[in-house]
Amino acid sequence: MQPPKSPICVICGSRPATTVEHVPPRGFFKGIVGQFRTVPACNICNNGSSEDDEALRNYISAQIGKQTTGAKHLWEMGAHKSFLRSTRLRSALLRTTHEVEVVDEDGSTTTRLAFVVPVSLYQRVFERVTRGLHFLHAGKILPIDIPVQINLLTNAPDLSLPEFQIFEKHSIAEDAFVYRFALNSEEPSNGVWLFTIHGSHWVQSSTGVLVDNAF
Ligand SMILES: [Zn+2]
Repeated sequence: MQPPKSPICVICGSRPATTVEHVPPRGFFKGIVGQFRTVPACNICNNGSSEDDEALRNYISAQIGKQTTGAKHLWEMGAHKSFLRSTRLRSALLRTTHEVEVVDEDGSTTTRLAFVVPVSLYQRVFERVTRGLHFLHAGKILPIDIPVQINLLTNAPDLSLPEFQIFEKHSIAEDAFVYRFALNSEEPSNGVWLFTIHGSHWVQSSTGVLVDNAF
């Protein structure tokens, strides 16, 4: 597929495109030499995203552990190095964790570590991913006044459900990132997207008018 071109940044939809942005962020796939996708972007959107990308990459890596080779690389070549390098990042992750008391079946209480989900970080990063991929597949910039709503899924959705049969499926970076989407044929700015990161982390987004959460 020949990627569509745009003289305007497809993320902000306003400034001239002077560079390209990876969607999803390339840093999510350390050690993987598979195919990546890029979209036209301005320097401000491109430069402004790297700190968010690194923070979310580290959070996701800490969540998914080392279940797959890609996830293992992500931790060893990415997140773990960032933590070693940066005191600020370490304290940022520690700020998102806290101890919770869990009551077991026998009535005894134990303490576990829980993460506070960085919802606004997911929103910023995956809104950018959604706008970039929308441009690639719809061939048009998703207008900036069209809202993108990000939802984190705690479990893998049941992909055998009939509503998923209309979803188009693509994979990048040796299957480390799989995305599925369905765009409304009459109004393509209304769409639903489903992202799978390293086979174990699920994020859903919807664009345009709010649709019922099908998952
Ligand atoms: Zn921009």
